[in-house]
Amino acid sequence: MCPLELVVLGSGDTLGVPKIGCRCPACTVAKEKGIPNARTRFSLLLKDTEKGFNVLVDTSPDMRFQLIREGVERVSAVLYTHHHWDHVLGFNDFYRVQATVTVFGLKETVDYVLDRVGFGNLVKARRRYIQPFESMKYKSFEFTAFPVYHPHLNNELNIQPVGYLFWLGEVKLAITGDTGISIPEESLKLIHEPDVLVADAFISHHKHFLDHHMTVEEAVRLAEQLKARKTILVHLTHANPPHAELQRKVDPTAEKVVVGYDTLRLKL
Ligand SMILES: [Zn+2]
Ligand SMILES: [Zn+2]
Ligand SMILES: [Zn+2]
Repeated sequence: MCPLELVVLGSGDTLGVPKIGCRCPACTVAKEKGIPNARTRFSLLLKDTEKGFNVLVDTSPDMRFQLIREGVERVSAVLYTHHHWDHVLGFNDFYRVQATVTVFGLKETVDYVLDRVGFGNLVKARRRYIQPFESMKYKSFEFTAFPVYHPHLNNELNIQPVGYLFWLGEVKLAITGDTGISIPEESLKLIHEPDVLVADAFISHHKHFLDHHMTVEEAVRLAEQLKARKTILVHLTHANPPHAELQRKVDPTAEKVVVGYDTLRLKL
């Protein structure tokens, strides 16, 4: 049996659910009932349960809480999708918890996180710069970064957001990271027919939502276009219906499309 496991640490958008001070249906049920309606900011954990290695995709501002919740005592490596604060701020939670951590990402992203967010370099990070479409291997994890479309805020930094394709034994796992629907053709080719697709699905039923995130409907369309066997929607905002209602809308059986939630675990 494959010892690899995917855990959704955070399934929420930049604000998390509930949003501070909000009384909308999704926030109200999140406050009353917690998970799966309550959503911390985005992060994923991939772990090799046999060998004890793990990698994080992004370090959420809620990272400390997420690692304690999941009983994770040490992180082997982090892969960064992009520099937005909801994906990086947790990095400082490594301070005095572990002496080192290996950090993968495009050079601009890694340098931005470690030099500007990284609490005066008190965490000794091993920088591992990667190029788009370059194949990397780290312990049990083989992965490739691919460019996505996420032109929003800090554009002057000229940082290219990426998603990650993992090859985990026979299993092809594609993670879009934050992106609008206009993912470059070359990236779409790379992530075609994934066994599992983890897709940005910010909000449902917004025809003209800014194009830097996918709507739920666009994410489902992308999953169909890619012929994904299973899709997990993440980066969900409070403006969506409560969890169970959204799941009923996108796929009542939850066989093909699963509305992601914090603590969701998938054996790969
Ligand atoms: Zn984000
Ligand atoms: Zn709300
Ligand atoms: Zn972003």
